Amino acid sequence: MTGSPAEVKLVSNAMANITRRKIMAMLVERNRTKEEIGGSVGQSMLDYHLQMLQQAGLVQSKDDSLTLTDFGKNFMETKAEKPAEVKRDLSGTKPLQVVEIRQLLPCIADSTKFRIIARLEPALGGALKLLEPLFPRARYSEKIGALIIQKGNILITIYSTGNVTLTMIRSEAEAKETLEDLKETINRAIVKGITPVPREKVKVDHAEIYEYLPKSNCQLCSEQSCYAFAIKLVGRETTLDRCTPLLEGKYLTNLEHIRTLLEYL
Ligand code: SF4
Repeated sequence: MTGSPAEVKLVSNAMANITRRKIMAMLVERNRTKEEIGGSVGQSMLDYHLQMLQQAGLVQSKDDSLTLTDFGKNFMETKAEKPAEVKRDLSGTKPLQVVEIRQLLPCIADSTKFRIIARLEPALGGALKLLEPLFPRARYSEKIGALIIQKGNILITIYSTGNVTLTMIRSEAEAKETLEDLKETINRAIVKGITPVPREKVKVDHAEIYEYLPKSNCQLCSEQSCYAFAIKLVGRETTLDRCTPLLEGKYLTNLEHIRTLLEYL
């Protein structure tokens, strides 16, 4: 995968469909026969779905079964991260290095942008949660054991294993710069040996949330407009799941952003 516009489009289209995402999730567990996959996701358009995944270089046919390619495995890897036990302070934590930018993938929400998979070493493990106060907008997710940092339109997710994903990145140069900034910020705290003090949550207003809504004013949420929905969301008079269009593949990054912003309410 070189990240050419044509390849980006192929992967973006392949992963924008829920049936194809289910097939990918099945293949993460183990190789499967076509019959097994059809038994789970249905036979309707199965050949078409498999063709889309194979054309995107995510899946390959091998010895009568289907398997993820190396590229497909990397693509799915960050979904299977495990939380580490949280540490009490930064003692014993070593300064980080950006060891590699492993892959440039299409950003599902915007095919002109990229999703980057990179690696920081040594892995931060249980020290990750302590770093939350270092960033103006960051939250530690207990569920996935990852620190999610919002920097403008970019969402950075650092896993305790050292893997890092960045979404809505314009170029490899921007990815490198963002990762270097991240490394410097974390290393300053590690070198000083200071455990950051928890800080006040940052406030978020409805206009910021509105920016990430579909802006179609479809009223499926029972509100007059997306703007009205944003106001009610901030006022806790409605819930995010009422906006069902956000579950479409092309809005997945927007959904991630809104969920992060709602943590600050
Ligand atoms: S359902 Fe979502 S897209 Fe439709 S009006 Fe409500 S907030 Fe906007």
